[in-house]
Amino acid sequence: MAHKVTLIPGDGIGPELADAAKRCIEATGVKIEWEHADAGEEALQQTGSLLPEPTLESIKRNKVALKGPITTPIGTGFRSVNVAIRHALDLYACVRPAKSYKGVRSRYQDIDLLIVRENSEDLYAGIEFEEGKPETKELIGQIEAGSKKKIRPDSGISIKPISISATTRIAKFAFEYALKLGRKKVTAVTKANIMKFTDGLFLKTAREVAKQYEGRIIFEDTLVDNMAMQLVQKPENFDVLLLPNLYGDILSDLFAGLIGGLGIAPGANIGDNMAVFEAVHGSAPKYKGLNKTNPTAMILSGMLMLRYLKEDQAADRLEQAVQDVIAEGRFVTYDLKPVRTDPSAVGTKEMADAIINKLK
Ligand code: NAD
Repeated sequence: MAHKVTLIPGDGIGPELADAAKRCIEATGVKIEWEHADAGEEALQQTGSLLPEPTLESIKRNKVALKGPITTPIGTGFRSVNVAIRHALDLYACVRPAKSYKGVRSRYQDIDLLIVRENSEDLYAGIEFEEGKPETKELIGQIEAGSKKKIRPDSGISIKPISISATTRIAKFAFEYALKLGRKKVTAVTKANIMKFTDGLFLKTAREVAKQYEGRIIFEDTLVDNMAMQLVQKPENFDVLLLPNLYGDILSDLFAGLIGGLGIAPGANIGDNMAVFEAVHGSAPKYKGLNKTNPTAMILSGMLMLRYLKEDQAADRLEQAVQDVIAEGRFVTYDLKPVRTDPSAVGTKEMADAIINKLK
């Protein structure tokens, strides 16, 4: 029977990458019935909404979606569509593997890390108070009265909620995922020494959860600033990383850098009974429609989707095909060539074709 999957092409380079990923996934032979749904600029023009209700309904119905990146307009007051999807569907776990593939030029080899980022709260909760607004002044007054600390009157304020319940579920998710994949260690990353009531709570809660896994998974913790340095010096010391939302976002790009760039870093947003798969990178608007950018991150997100659908054999074959094309280094996009101006670089579509040829 065919799997039903919602396909959201997205904005910028999204549609061309989504098409490449769709063709590669189909080439594995797994039967998928795609339901197309829009979100982002295209949806805004056609329906007046960046995230139309039918798109959310489609994901809820099919329980699985593959999504291209969506542009977030900066400073216009409305939140990221990507964050809105994660919140609306309670996709609380963001999973981002960072794995070295042979042939990718990087300062590091043999990286095999897994980031588990909490997706639903922290500074990403979207609770913000604009500078100068009456409610902001009122809040500043309340905080000053309650804490006896001064806040400058011309401040904007973003709220950072971190709860025991959300931390417990993400920590459990990280440990269970680690067990499932045969991983050895989970490292929690916080700034618990400074933000005692938020990051401190995250760490305390993660420690509690870790007790249930004693003897099966090692638990460690480190401060996020120290982690940034250690990842650059000794990434091999880490296995699974468990992070609150914002640090997870920032370190995800560092991870992508460790394995050779955003073009090859896939991801998944997972909830209790549904999941949306998407690359770590964004919509790179300047490359829109040029058939230039690397489809690997989106294709590998599709590979993660196949695993979620329990199509492990197809996922293995797809990953191997991607790996072989990258290792051969012929039919790869500009970012995987020794110099970015290399005239032998192929386009998005041609790299996907090469991967499909390997699957035949
Ligand atoms: P970006 O990831 O879109 O691009 C930054 C740079 O990375 C590009 O200019 C390009 O040089 C490189 N790059 C990205 N993807 C690549 C690929 N597939 N192949 C080769 N090179 C690639 O980041 P940005 O410019 O900061 O963001 C653009 C827009 O995307 C913003 O509106 C942002 O909010 C949004 N965004 C969306 C998502 C998402 O949909 N989940 C994630 C991140 C950013």
